[in-house]
Amino acid sequence: MDIKVFIAGKEATCSECGENLGRHAWITLVENQGPVCLSCADLDHLEFLPSGDAALTRRAGKYSKLKAIVLQWSRSRKRYERQGILVEQAALAQAEEDCLADADLRALRRERDAERREWLDQAYLAQFAERVRELYPHCPPGREQTIAEHACEKFSGRVGRSASAKALDEAAITLAVTAHIRHSETQYDDLLAQGNERFDARKMVWGQIEQILETWK
Ligand SMILES: [Zn+2]
Repeated sequence: MDIKVFIAGKEATCSECGENLGRHAWITLVENQGPVCLSCADLDHLEFLPSGDAALTRRAGKYSKLKAIVLQWSRSRKRYERQGILVEQAALAQAEEDCLADADLRALRRERDAERREWLDQAYLAQFAERVRELYPHCPPGREQTIAEHACEKFSGRVGRSASAKALDEAAITLAVTAHIRHSETQYDDLLAQGNERFDARKMVWGQIEQILETWK
């Protein structure tokens, strides 16, 4: 069963972290609990692929261990409409490779990278990366950039701008680094994809995350 992500139609507050997400926030709905932001739901590392290219969507979905369908309520049609899917970046890259010849692929990548860079707040991104490096000087080269980009994507489009200011304090940086380690260095995404509850899955990988955090400090 696919995970569903909703683009909220009105003000939403995350029932887990208590963050006011503003209007049009991307949320999941947890039974008997209400809206949960994508950070708390551990889905905010996934990349959004808008609907439109059926072959690319099918392939990206196939390659992605963890994926979610993004839905938005249509007032005129009175039903939820699919806006696209959230997939792992590697899955999307693989799907693109399948779909396109090499020359086309390079052009498409350049275009997408440019769009993405334009969208992100460059100054904020640099600041964030610098803070990661400062607090975790032994993390592998380039990681601070990856972590900063994910964090900044989150604050650019998916949660209110007001939330971004406090995202540079140490606790917030550590949260971003922890989330990165969880998804990139542990079996966490596999555990979620296999249907494990988030809290159980987190418990299973926590020791491993703590160890890695120590070595990066
Ligand atoms: Zn939350």
